[in-house]
Order: sequence, then C-alpha cells, then structure tokens
Amino acid sequence: MDNSFSTRLLTALKKSGHSQSDLARHLGISQPSVNAWLRGKNLAETSRVPEIALFLGVRSGWLLGDGGPPGEYVAPHQDPESRWHYTNYQEPAAAVPDQSAHWLADDEAYEYTFIWQTISSEQAEAPVKVGNICERLGIVLVEEIFPDHVCGSIQYTDGRYVIRVNKLHHSNRKRFTVAHELAHYIEHRHLIGDGVVDDMMYRSSLSSETEREANQIAARILMPDHLLEYVSEQENQDMDAVARRLGVSLQALSIRLGQPI
Ligand SMILES: [Zn+2]
Repeated sequence: MDNSFSTRLLTALKKSGHSQSDLARHLGISQPSVNAWLRGKNLAETSRVPEIALFLGVRSGWLLGDGGPPGEYVAPHQDPESRWHYTNYQEPAAAVPDQSAHWLADDEAYEYTFIWQTISSEQAEAPVKVGNICERLGIVLVEEIFPDHVCGSIQYTDGRYVIRVNKLHHSNRKRFTVAHELAHYIEHRHLIGDGVVDDMMYRSSLSSETEREANQIAARILMPDHLLEYVSEQENQDMDAVARRLGVSLQALSIRLGQPI
C-alpha cells in the first residue's frame, strides 16, 4: 500500500464514511484545503494530524506513513464490518522513516493529551462549552426524551461514540450528564462495551468506584480550578451566583468545593 499521507487520508476518509466536507467542517477549514491534501498538493500541518486521526478513527502514526496497523484505539467490539481489522492487515513492504517519533512512540498518550488540551481550550470562560468539546472530539451529542430517572448514556455505534442526554432535564443537569459521559469516554472506554446508561444518581452497570471517578472528572471539566477561582472572585464568593455563572447546580458546586450541602 502507498504510504503517502494523501493516500492514507483518502483510505481513512472512505473507511470512516465521512465526506471531505465533514472533515473540513470538523477542522474548521475549507473543503478545498482538504481536497488539496487528498490530491497530494499540500500536506496537512503536523499539528492537525492527531485531530484528523481522531476524527477518522485511525492512528496519527499510520496517517503519517508508519509501518503499523491503521487503528484502532476505539472499542473493537461493535460494528465488525466497518471497522479496521488487524487480522487482515498486511505489513507494508518498506515502512517510511518515522518523521514524528513523539506521536508514534505512544499514540494513546498523545490522544489523551489531545483530549485534555481540547477540553482546556473550551474552559477559557464560564460556562464551559461541553457541546463544543464533544464536537471537537468527534463525539455525537444527542438530546433525547428518556424516562425521568435516566440522565444519559454513552455508546459506540456506527464507528462513532454517541452521548445521549435526557432532553427533559434542567440545563445544568444536562451539562453535568454530558461531562459525566465524556469522563467515561476519556477514562473508561475499555469498559463501555455495548453502552453505558446512567440513572439519576449516575449509577450504571459500571462499578460505583468507576462512577465516582466519572463524577469527579465531570466536575473538573465543568469547574476547573482557574475558572472557579476567577468566577468566585468576580461574584464575591456568592455561591449561588458562581453556580449560575458556571452552569452547574449549587449541589455540584458544593461537592466540587468539598463543602457540606
Ligand atoms: Zn456513569
């Protein structure tokens, strides 16, 4: 197989089922720019490669022509038809010299860094935009009418992660649910299996310890230290006002601050 970036990008794009426009939109660039990459006219900026790889469900290293398999870092348990298969994969005759050792060395660590960088770039102001985070990570976010005792769920379907949130809940609750499901995506992807459904208390088929961890991460996503400090100062430590500004419930804020409710 041709190891060039353009060929691999085209392969990954076809396999993912996304269009050139989808990719362009996801990256916030024009469709002709993507087309230029595919025609080998231009190379993608190396800083965008992890984002492209994540969106298309392949490894950055593979896109850049390394000798390894194309994927996958996402759960391989579902949708066997449309996913990459290690088993049928043939090692290319000659691997292209590694041009980005730091990505190839540890793709998963890089992805983890990428996820937290994406989150922190949406934490510049209150409230933290969880919808943007999902979009930039290539996660589909859906509001759906669930029974009241269900907060939301995360599931891997058709090659993508989908977070569903109970449409009828208060916006603060919805934001916390999205952050909670994002936490499962970040830390518990290997446990998601056929999907995780969280009830009103964020209990699911996962262990209570796992759920507690997801709640802590969710709180860190919605209420990062710097923002919490900044908003608290601006609102003269009026906790009701701080919670409102951060788009969280007073209860969530109290838990985050380690204060009794
Ligand atoms: Zn959960």
